Amino acid sequence: MKAAVCYEFGKPLVIEDVTLSEPGDMDVKVRLVATAICHSDIHDWKGELPGGLPFLGGHESAGYVEKVGQGITSVKVGDPVVVSLLASCGKCYYCANGLPHLCEHRFDPPPNPRVHNRKGQSLELKGNIGGFAEYTVVDESQVVKVPENMPLDRACLLACGVITGFGGVVNRAQVKPFQSVVVMGVGGVGINAIQGAAYVGAYPVIAVDMLDARLKMAMDMGATHTVNAGRKDAADVIKELTGGRGADFVFVTVGSIAAIKQGFSFTGLRGTVVLIGLPNYTEQYSFAPMDIIPTEKNIIGGFMGATNLKLDIPNLISLYQSGRLKLDELVTGRFPLDRINEAIASTEKGEGLRNVIMFK
Ligand SMILES: [Zn+2]
Ligand SMILES: [Zn+2]
Repeated sequence: MKAAVCYEFGKPLVIEDVTLSEPGDMDVKVRLVATAICHSDIHDWKGELPGGLPFLGGHESAGYVEKVGQGITSVKVGDPVVVSLLASCGKCYYCANGLPHLCEHRFDPPPNPRVHNRKGQSLELKGNIGGFAEYTVVDESQVVKVPENMPLDRACLLACGVITGFGGVVNRAQVKPFQSVVVMGVGGVGINAIQGAAYVGAYPVIAVDMLDARLKMAMDMGATHTVNAGRKDAADVIKELTGGRGADFVFVTVGSIAAIKQGFSFTGLRGTVVLIGLPNYTEQYSFAPMDIIPTEKNIIGGFMGATNLKLDIPNLISLYQSGRLKLDELVTGRFPLDRINEAIASTEKGEGLRNVIMFK
C-alpha cells in the first residue's frame, strides 16, 4: 500500500510502498477514505512530541472495514467507520469507571510492528493508526461504525479535533448554562470548543485569537464575543464581559506556556483553566500556590475530550445530521496523498481549520 513516511523531522514525507500485516483476532483492517491533518501531526513531524523515526503519522481517519479478525463482532466487512487513537481494553479500572479515554492500556503498542518499509524497517504508527496510508489495522476499540449516509471526509474529523474541543467543554469541564467561557485559539480544536460551549448554553462565549478570519468563523459557530488579542488587551475585554470577575472556564487550545499563563489570568474566582492544546513535551509550567489557594482556581487537563467513542461519536453524528453541529465548515482543503506535503505546509501556516487527505 502507499504511505507517507517521515524519515527526518521537519523534512517532506516520503510517499512509498509499505507492507501492512494482517489483522489479529481482535483487530480490524480499514481501507481509509479520509485522514485529516491535526496539529499534533505537525508536532510529531517537527519532533516536538515523544517518538522516534521513521514513523507514519495520521490519527483522524475514516474508511470502510476491509477485513476483521476472528473475534470481532461489533463491525463487519463493508461498514463505514471512524478510526480513532482512543484504544481501550474494557476491563481496567478506568474503563470500568466509564472513562475509556484513560484506559491503562490506551498507549500500548501492538505486540508486533504492523507496517514495514521496503528495507524491512518497522515504522512507528502514530496513535497506533498510521492514517497517512491507504489501509490501517487497529484494535476493535478504535473503530466506531457510522451511518451509511455520513460523509467520511467529515466523519474523520470526529476522531480527534471535534471531540477534543467539543468533549473538552461538555465531558471534561461539564460547563453549565450561563457559565462564562473563553476559548483561546480558534483553530481546528478551538472552533469545536466554541461549538460545545454554545451547545450547552454557556454565556458569554468569548473567542480569543490573532486572526480576524478565525474570529469571524467563531461567531458563525456560536461565539457571542470575540477579541483580537493582537489589537486589544484580552484581559480587559474578558473582565468587562464577565461583570468584572473573569471567566468561569478558559480553554487553552494553543500549545504554549505563555498562553497557559495568560489563560490563568483570564479566570475569575473558582475559575478553571482547561488545557487541551499540546505544547512541546519538554516545556514546563510553574505557578504560585498563593494564586490558587485563596482564589480556589483550578488547572485541569483535558485529553481527547474525555470521549467515550461508542457513546459520543453516534451522538455527535446525530447533532450534525440535525444541523446542530457544524462539520462541513471545518474542512478547508482536500488533498490526494501525493500532495500531503502541501497539505502539511498549509496546516503548519495556520491556514484554515482542517486539511483532509483523500484516498482513492
Ligand atoms: Zn489530533
Ligand atoms: Zn481499559
